[in-house]
This record gives sequence, C-alpha cells and structure tokens, in this order.
Amino acid sequence: MNASSVSTIADLVHADGWMGQALCAETAPEAFFPEKSGSSRQAKRVCRSCEVRAECLAYALENHERFGVRGGLSERERRPLLLIADAA
Ligand code: SF4
Repeated sequence: MNASSVSTIADLVHADGWMGQALCAETAPEAFFPEKSGSSRQAKRVCRSCEVRAECLAYALENHERFGVRGGLSERERRPLLLIADAA
C-alpha cells in the first residue's frame, strides 16, 4: 500500500502487519476524523487501549499523515513531533 493512497482508518486496518491489529477497526471511523470544531476525545479513548498505538504513531509521523487522530494524537498534536523528526 502506498502511503499516499491511505485516506481513511479503514484503509489502514485492511493492510498487513500491525495495522491488522488496529482497535479503531472495531469503532466508527468518523470519530477519528472529527469536524474542525468537533471532539477527538472518543477516538483518543480508543487509542489509549490500542496495542499498536506506538506503531500507529510512528507510521503517521513517518508518512506525514496530516488528517485524523493517529496513535492517540490529533494532527495538531503530531505537528511538533514532525518538526523534531524532520530535523533529525
Ligand atoms: S492507535 Fe488509534 S488510530 Fe492508531 S491503530 Fe490504534 S486505535 Fe487506530
């Protein structure tokens, strides 16, 4: 799967490896893509129980995933980590 073709959590959970263990596969995907004024609380609660949270966050950072909650962090929360990763 090409990273640029990943557009939804559903795309991720159907892929091989850690993505197949994604807990978000068992939940409503829209919770991971809240409206601008919406809450990401529900998605983050799921992420806290997800066994592949670290792998998910690493993937999101490596692939500059810009949208949605990934690895328990929103896009805004991942932004500073991206700056650090890009500087390394
Ligand atoms: S950490 Fe969250 S977004 Fe990532 S796979 Fe797990 S439930 Fe899905």
